[in-house]
Amino acid sequence: MKPFVYNALPSRVIFGSNTLYQIKDELRLLGKNRGLVLSTAGQHKAASQVSNLLGEFSVGCFNGAVMHTPITVTNDALKIVMETKADCIIAIGGGSTIGLAKAIALNTNLPQIVIPTTYAGSEATPIIGQTENGVKTTQRTLKVLPEVIIYDVELTKTLPVPITITSAMNAIAHAIEALYSKDANPFISMLAEQGIEALARAIPIIYHSPLDSAARSDALFGAWACGTCLGAVGMSIHHKLCHTLGGSFSLPHAETHTVILPHAVAYNESATTEVMARVAKALGVSNAAQGLYDLAAQHGAPTSLKEIGMNASDISLAVEIACASPYWNPRPIEAKAIHNLLSNAFYGKRP
Ligand code: NAD
Repeated sequence: MKPFVYNALPSRVIFGSNTLYQIKDELRLLGKNRGLVLSTAGQHKAASQVSNLLGEFSVGCFNGAVMHTPITVTNDALKIVMETKADCIIAIGGGSTIGLAKAIALNTNLPQIVIPTTYAGSEATPIIGQTENGVKTTQRTLKVLPEVIIYDVELTKTLPVPITITSAMNAIAHAIEALYSKDANPFISMLAEQGIEALARAIPIIYHSPLDSAARSDALFGAWACGTCLGAVGMSIHHKLCHTLGGSFSLPHAETHTVILPHAVAYNESATTEVMARVAKALGVSNAAQGLYDLAAQHGAPTSLKEIGMNASDISLAVEIACASPYWNPRPIEAKAIHNLLSNAFYGKRP
């Protein structure tokens, strides 16, 4: 066994079906009695349901969460927190809503109960990205790690199939980069393999039967496993490229991860042969990069940057930004090869 350092993160995880009904008990366990419920505008009904379940322990809902956690939205939500004297933040939704909960926690130290309804994994990380004047900055602090995560499989059944597939690919990306991370450790690697396996098994079933309980349960377990990987160890080229494309070119988060992943894996393949064999085994294929491309393509997900809104003329600038600050990657970052990677991803070439 290679030497390693592993920092376990403190967090209470409740997983199952209809676990949402435990929300009031969880608030009580935290010693709180004034929960403010957050959601996006699209999930306002789910937020109202949570608020109703909390009854007298709810101070209301804020339904203004949007992608990339803009400071302006956080400031609006902070005003409501002050006005209502909320003592706990409850987020129901995907990474956008959980991002807002984290931003409030960063400013107020209030505890968070989060109820994830996508597979992005933010709930399991001490990472927060915020946008101010169009610039997204990310920081890592335990202040934003949610105290309680309630995974309720039933809530994920309404996640539209296209978002389900791209969100699942987003989760798989966390696990793959964890396996070849410079901080890789045996516990997280085991979780990474299980997460990839569960999501790869679930995708084809959900694609045909979105309400399949066993597959939705597998996918949500996979999301927790992969999110835990993201929270525990450092990421590399794949996440750096997606951050660049999302932050500087406004490409959609989960779709960008889906398109880039096969190409990032192909880029690192020669430097990580052992890891890629583990990834391929977990996916049930013979080649990891091709298997990931096929998993997306066969289930209706985008495979090119072109189709998700990138301009060919932006590739050179994206390469420049992605290569500007040095960071660890199993294969050295070479501008020409990164240009090649992004060109292949732009045109949706199978690796
Ligand atoms: P999202 O939260 O923006 O959700 C996508 C859309 O799906 C939204 O309109 C939402 O209302 C809707 N939706 C979510 N769950 C639903 C459900 N069950 N049924 C019906 N509709 C549903 O997307 P996301 O991909 O989960 O999150 C992306 C954001 O999260 C990005 O800003 C990204 O940077 C951030 N993120 C952060 C971390 C972290 O560790 N800090 C990790 C992953 C993602």
